[in-house]
Amino acid sequence: MTIATINPFNGETLQIFTPLTSEEINQKLALAVSTFQDYRLTSLEFRGERLLKTAEILEVNREKYAKLMTIEMGKPIKQAVAEINKCAVVCRFYAENAQKFLTPKYIDTDASESFVTYQPLGAILAVMPWNFPFWQVFRFLSPALMAGNVGLLKHASNVPQCALAIESVLLSAGFPEGVFQTLLIESPQVEKVLRDSRVKAVTLTGSELAGKSVASIAGQELKKSVLELGGSDPFIVLDDANIEEATEVAVTARMLNNGQTCIAAKRFILHNSIADEFEKLLVEKYHNLILGDPLEPNTDIGPLATPNILKDITHQVSKTIEMGGKVLIGGQTIENKGNFYPPTILTNIPVNSPGMIEEFFGPVALLFRVNNLQEAIELANSTIFGLGASIWTKNEENIKIAVRDIEVGALFINGLVKSDPRLPFGGTKSSGYGRELSMEGMHEFVNIKTVWQK
Ligand code: NAP
Repeated sequence: MTIATINPFNGETLQIFTPLTSEEINQKLALAVSTFQDYRLTSLEFRGERLLKTAEILEVNREKYAKLMTIEMGKPIKQAVAEINKCAVVCRFYAENAQKFLTPKYIDTDASESFVTYQPLGAILAVMPWNFPFWQVFRFLSPALMAGNVGLLKHASNVPQCALAIESVLLSAGFPEGVFQTLLIESPQVEKVLRDSRVKAVTLTGSELAGKSVASIAGQELKKSVLELGGSDPFIVLDDANIEEATEVAVTARMLNNGQTCIAAKRFILHNSIADEFEKLLVEKYHNLILGDPLEPNTDIGPLATPNILKDITHQVSKTIEMGGKVLIGGQTIENKGNFYPPTILTNIPVNSPGMIEEFFGPVALLFRVNNLQEAIELANSTIFGLGASIWTKNEENIKIAVRDIEVGALFINGLVKSDPRLPFGGTKSSGYGRELSMEGMHEFVNIKTVWQK
């Protein structure tokens, strides 16, 4: 993909970037390694002060960075502002908690002293997606840099200005040059960088295809990898749920970021006895959503990020309808410039149709009906994905069964699936492996070294 800023609202190409040459990449890797030699010896106070400063810079310039995201990938501006605020939160969280997460752990053994210590690995490559152009990067870099690693970012090709802005925020905050570098490279260039012995580990957030490619290269090189991949999260509503509240949350859960969120609720699995009411309320709420210019503060749904995403979702919806799916609202592309797709609800989803098995990365809700919890869980677990799930019930026995049996990395009960710096985040099955955020996220990119002394 060409590295360029193309406004998804009107298709206008605003800036094209030339990918780095091999020699330029080589210089950046050399800088990463030499910087690491000094940076790994800096104190947590040194790193923490700079991360707090980073939070401050983000907040002071939140409108500017939010606008950059909206122009590059079409996120409604109010959500973009919220994303910048969340980045500041994750910076502060790690600045304040790194000490606790990295404190050596003393363990009684036959030694006079034995303990576990957490040491940085070196240069970590982060391959990141466009859907949360700032958040995805900050949730990686905050723990990684606090742990003493240095970061190399290969961002998605459609958000190059966000990638460069992040590097400049960190430099302005006082991080030494080379601690965090953006590599403007295309995806075929990733392999060489990852195979380079100066790069010690990799984290990728993106599609299953990209994840498999990067993980297999990392595997051949015996380098640690963390993968945050796609999802088709179930949103299960049982007969004792608060339906008004569930539908209200259902709209946000599906529509946030124009429907392009890995942990969006994508499959709504409804108990037969409440399904009619849920459907009716959801359709009403979908009617009220405002589609339009993502820079306008009232806009709920902006354009999809690229023409390819529009093409994919259009194909998935029409194939599902062709196979027998029923449209409750939307379902037709909008004749307009920009990559707009209307809020859509599909029901009667046929077995083996895209609606049953694929991830829908756009504003399309897929509705299913079941007779009981058992059927709901079977349906929830029936895809290759296992990222998040939400279940709506007050029954304690149902909750216990859901916690035990739903195959996901995060289960939210009577609430929206969301990431929170205090809680580990990640998936199972084809949604990836490893965790980000919290202590677990920080421990992914450290050498957990055991020390034993007689
Ligand atoms: P993508 O095409 O996989 O792109 C993600 C990143 O990987 C981009 O930087 C892309 O670069 C790069 N890339 C693509 N193919 C590659 C390859 N073969 N080798 C190395 N790098 C490669 O994903 P996307 O369509 O942008 O993002 C949407 C997907 O990400 C969805 O499936 C979504 O669910 C998932 N996602 C998951 C999480 C999570 O936390 N689990 C969060 C957000 C998104 P180019 O742009 O240059 O191609």
